[in-house]
Amino acid sequence: MKKALIVGGGFAGCTAAYMLKQKGFDVTIVEGSSQLGGGCRTFFHGGHPYTFGPHHLLINEDEMFVWDYFEKFVSLRELQHHTLTYVEQDREFYTYPIHVDEVRTMPDYEKIKKELDNKSDINSATNFEEYWSASIGDTLYDKFVHNYSEKMWQIKNNQELDEFAFSPKGKTLQSGSKQCFIGQKKIAYPIELDGYNSYFEKCVEGCNVIFNQKVEIFDLDNKRVKVNGEYLSGDVVINTASLDDVFEHCYGELRYIGRDFQKIILPIENAFPDPYHFIHYAGDDPHTRIVEYKKMTGYNSPHTLLGIETPSFNNKLYPYPVKSEIEKATKYKELFPQDCYTLGRMGTYHYDNMDIIVKECMKLMEQI
Ligand SMILES: Cc1cc2nc3c(=O)[nH]c(=O)nc-3n(C[C@H](O)[C@H](O)[C@H](O)COP(=O)(O)OP(=O)(O)OC[C@H]3O[C@@H](n4cnc5c(N)ncnc54)[C@H](O)[C@@H]3O)c2cc1C
Repeated sequence: MKKALIVGGGFAGCTAAYMLKQKGFDVTIVEGSSQLGGGCRTFFHGGHPYTFGPHHLLINEDEMFVWDYFEKFVSLRELQHHTLTYVEQDREFYTYPIHVDEVRTMPDYEKIKKELDNKSDINSATNFEEYWSASIGDTLYDKFVHNYSEKMWQIKNNQELDEFAFSPKGKTLQSGSKQCFIGQKKIAYPIELDGYNSYFEKCVEGCNVIFNQKVEIFDLDNKRVKVNGEYLSGDVVINTASLDDVFEHCYGELRYIGRDFQKIILPIENAFPDPYHFIHYAGDDPHTRIVEYKKMTGYNSPHTLLGIETPSFNNKLYPYPVKSEIEKATKYKELFPQDCYTLGRMGTYHYDNMDIIVKECMKLMEQI
């Protein structure tokens, strides 16, 4: 039986484990923490389920095979996705994406209208700021995007962002429905209160999982890694750890921004008006987003749990959409020898939602 060795038991590592098992591999996973699931694991606070960030599924409407894939493991409930943004200048909450009907109600509508009528060409934009200003004009950019993005990435100027991974690629102003991703994506969340946790357990059934052990040395030329003083090897090695850690930072450290996460329970059934799940804060508040979890998890309680996300450098969550960092990551990826592969958020240095990771794993299995 061929052996597969996987570094990291997060969403990507568990998904790869399941698919390799299906291909007949004997799978070993090395996980640095005491639990599976990484950023997608559900925890409980005062009985309320939550994950670190929202973690609903966003599945392209023409890719229902991804929905079917998840339903092999967890039952899904379809949700609608509605978010608000607090705009300090107007002392108002507006729906997001920016909606044309609400723009018409803004106190400075005449100025905004002029800017929208005289938009410049987005194709000539060379950075995030130019892209957004060209798409929606300076006034809407200042209200919704400017501070939010500089806070999110902890940068002085959005001109530093020269890749548009987080820009909406033409979907900057919405009309018609106020629901996010309407007509593009189906939104879902597991019905069971423990979220995706049973997904992780089922993925690794029959695998050898080594918990609480960080890989100390990656010796990929010999298809092995050192863990707790001993080498483990595989015919195939899959990495989901940060690319710079794998190659001892030989091209330098990769830049990430993280989040501090604060949980608050309030003595009310719902804090946000229906149908909203998230609120983004686009002003100079320290936090970027607040999520009301029961709106997604379906947890029944007279109380509600809010998760407040504040940008920080305490963990590595979002790779920077900056060309120089992406080029560095590409150089790292080129160092992977035959039969060694890299997957996931840190393993590709690309922010991907869970649906993308499933597709990425399916594609990889065609090569193995
Ligand atoms: C705030 C936030 C909100 C998000 N919301 C959504 C959402 O709503 N919907 C959605 O689809 N996606 C969402 N995502 C994306 C989702 O979290 C990722 O797609 C997913 O977590 C990626 O899985 P991963 O396995 O690559 O990384 P992780 O989940 O981070 O797992 C990596 C695992 O590897 C382990 N590890 C790392 N280094 C080592 C090492 N050297 N040795 C051993 N183990 C190691 C870690 O302990 C961890 O368990 C969100 C992400 C963030 C940051």
